[in-house]
Amino acid sequence: MVSSERSVWQAWINGRWTDSISGQKFSVDEPATGLRLAEVSKLSSEDVDQAVSIAKRQFDSQQWSGISATARGKVLYRLATLIHDNADVLAQWETRQGGKTFQDSLDEVHTAADCFEYYAGAANKIFGHTIPVSAKGLDYTLRVPVGVVALIVPWNFPFLITAWKVAPALAAGNSVIVKPASYTPLTALALGELTAEAGIPDGIFNVTPGPGSEVGEALVSDPRVDKIAFTGETTTGTRILQLAAPGIKRVSLELGGKSPTIAFSGIDIERFAKLAVQSAYGNAGQDCCARSRVLVERKILEPFTEAFVRNVKSLSVGNPFDPHTAVGPLVSQAHRNRVSHYIDLGLEEGGTLAMEPEDRNVPEQGYYLAPVVFTNVNSQMAIVREEIFGPVSSIQAFDTEEEAIRLANDTPYGLAGSIFSNSVGQALRVAAAVRTGVMSVNSIKSVHLEAPFGGFKQSGLGRELGMEAFDHYTETKNIFVSLDD
Ligand code: NAD
Repeated sequence: MVSSERSVWQAWINGRWTDSISGQKFSVDEPATGLRLAEVSKLSSEDVDQAVSIAKRQFDSQQWSGISATARGKVLYRLATLIHDNADVLAQWETRQGGKTFQDSLDEVHTAADCFEYYAGAANKIFGHTIPVSAKGLDYTLRVPVGVVALIVPWNFPFLITAWKVAPALAAGNSVIVKPASYTPLTALALGELTAEAGIPDGIFNVTPGPGSEVGEALVSDPRVDKIAFTGETTTGTRILQLAAPGIKRVSLELGGKSPTIAFSGIDIERFAKLAVQSAYGNAGQDCCARSRVLVERKILEPFTEAFVRNVKSLSVGNPFDPHTAVGPLVSQAHRNRVSHYIDLGLEEGGTLAMEPEDRNVPEQGYYLAPVVFTNVNSQMAIVREEIFGPVSSIQAFDTEEEAIRLANDTPYGLAGSIFSNSVGQALRVAAAVRTGVMSVNSIKSVHLEAPFGGFKQSGLGRELGMEAFDHYTETKNIFVSLDD
């Protein structure tokens, strides 16, 4: 069972809690209070070297990759059940370390368990092909595990994104090393104990907390690590690609976003303004799929803006354990400063705030920030082009479908987006034309465990989730068998 009391956390390596070689620790704060929550072992490249040796040795032993895919699936199913059983405690840690509302944390943990269930069932459905080659013989492909995979995770959905990567990687038979974000390492570490309880052999699942610049880079650079699956900022993704290049490592990247909502005339304004607000301010806007650019057809600009701003004003900001809270604190003081800086910049650039942040009742202790909405913006402004990753959105008007598509695409990112329209034809035309990896029509849902997820352009490389995730976690091996005697 996951403990709800622990204040000192070690790394999880080779099936047990493990101190850093140096004995150093770093602290994790509680964003809701700004107070220290836990001390965590701070690993270095020396610790990574040991963790990779163990993961490689265990991979080579075939204790995991060598059992049947059905048997692996059964272990993953047990893990899913353990996660559901421990959801309350895991969600408490998730909220305490990251600041998201407790209900969101509970949803996140149960969805992570569902992800393990999905890949438990998928493990024995990773099929190869038989190929009618012209030579006289049987040609077929096998999907074999890649080997040791390093999974580098951000702080905004720490447990869920860990699950997105760990579940398919383990289902395919790999050894994994998770590098959690330093603000939020606790729930990935807690997963360690559950993997042991579920029956995953020692050294197949490891968690190495520590600075990205040292632990992350050591993992990416280690020649024994065969694949990197990274979620985080686009700039970090660029660095990872550079470090991975000499070893020709397999790399998949889930990066930043600046996603649009596109609202056309004729829609139910109250219903869709509310949805647009949820998608921009959920998780305090710290969501790669946040629809932080709201594009509205000029015919409905005024009523839509009024409804949108009214809904933002009604979001209650406060203690994430209070069931009435919609927006909790941001993850850290540094991140709050960064988001505040963007608000100042937006004003300097000539944007107009639809409401004054000072009017909001926001707790003084902790890393809270009142949500804001900018109007009077254009696509050249930094607040419209760059990912802010906080409770900030902007509203822009368009006159035609073509202009809506042009504005939607006028960004280096291409992750997600929503179209609100009463016309099926219009919705399908725009959904196809917007250059993003996922689009939702009359919905704000971007992620389905069963469907591929990922970005165009600078939002990423490759797709996670669904059966497509196995493209990252397996190598295709072609075998030809001569039929000649
Ligand atoms: P980040 O890039 O700062 O850190 C992500 C992870 O990478 C952390 O574990 C960090 O320690 C590690 N890291 C940092 N520098 C590294 C380096 N040089 N080498 C190896 N690892 C390194 O990102 P973040 O601030 O934790 O997360 C927010 C970002 O993540 C946003 O840009 C957001 O859009 C993105 N994100 C994308 C998706 C998606 O699916 N596309 C999902 C969630 C978050």
